[in-house]
Amino acid sequence: MAGGYRVACDRISDGELKPGSQTARLVILAAGSLGSTELLLRCRDEHAGLPNVSQRLGHRWSSNGDFLTPAIYAFRAVEPTRGPTITSAINLLDGTVDGQEIFIEDGGFPDLAKGAMERLAGRPGATEQETALIEGVRWLVRLRLFDSIMPWFAQGRDASDGVLSLRDKKLFLDWDVETSEPTIEAILRTHQKLAMATGGAAIVPPAWAWSQDLITPHPLGGAAMGTSASDGVVDFRGEVFGYRNLFVSDGSIVPKAIGLNPSKTIAALAEHVAARIIAEGR
Ligand SMILES: Cc1cc2nc3c(=O)[nH]c(=O)nc-3n(C[C@H](O)[C@H](O)[C@H](O)COP(=O)(O)OP(=O)(O)OC[C@H]3O[C@@H](n4cnc5c(N)ncnc54)[C@H](O)[C@@H]3O)c2cc1C
Repeated sequence: MAGGYRVACDRISDGELKPGSQTARLVILAAGSLGSTELLLRCRDEHAGLPNVSQRLGHRWSSNGDFLTPAIYAFRAVEPTRGPTITSAINLLDGTVDGQEIFIEDGGFPDLAKGAMERLAGRPGATEQETALIEGVRWLVRLRLFDSIMPWFAQGRDASDGVLSLRDKKLFLDWDVETSEPTIEAILRTHQKLAMATGGAAIVPPAWAWSQDLITPHPLGGAAMGTSASDGVVDFRGEVFGYRNLFVSDGSIVPKAIGLNPSKTIAALAEHVAARIIAEGR
């Protein structure tokens, strides 16, 4: 199609996935920080369909400083299984804690997670490990141990210097802990202080203590918004530099950690991208 794009995709037909393709004058990619970055990397480096996408593709990736510290309350039932997961926050994004910009939240164990685990355990073909995990969780629930564990949550403005690339045809994250360590340690110290002040004892998560591994539900960046292809992948409209009418609209265009739960920022960016497309009559 002249001036447009052909998108290879699977189509659902008679309950089966069949390879297909779709042509379009305008394409909006919205597969998330990892998904959109991976698709663009494959289009640029594997299939050469978009060979001129910025060399900054994959850069400025962040885990948004996400961190969880469990704390045990031996003499107090904190009941994190009741109510919504996050109900309050302490905004320390002004750098009060050792110059690090962090945002502390109360956590919880949502009923939804319990239901999902029950379904996982009950589904045909559940692995032994899955079943053992669920049994372990059921045992903790029966002993009411969850009532005494408070998961402290946090986000922070980390270094946002992770780099996603393709290695052996798989998405690979290059992330150096050193530059983000001060942010994570500031969060951990604050969690420890808050737990102690409220009658709890914080446990440093083993994954962090032993190997400085992190888990994030808030991946950001990879196809960052910038002023030109030398510092970003998309412009202020979300349009890929060098590719008219190819837009990215998801967490991959957020150019650095925002240190907050990001879904509303991502939604606001999506509205902004849509408004520009309409306003410019694309
Ligand atoms: C457990 C959990 C709890 C969370 N709680 C909160 C919260 O309380 N508040 C908050 O602000 N944020 C929360 N978040 C984060 C929030 O959900 C994400 O930041 C947000 O959804 C990211 O939006 P997105 O559009 O970038 O990507 P997504 O919402 O991940 O959307 C990307 C979509 O693209 C699809 N996709 C990926 N690859 C492909 C492909 N190759 N082809 C086709 N489709 C593809 C995915 O299946 C997905 O549907 C939470 C996340 C998790 C995991």
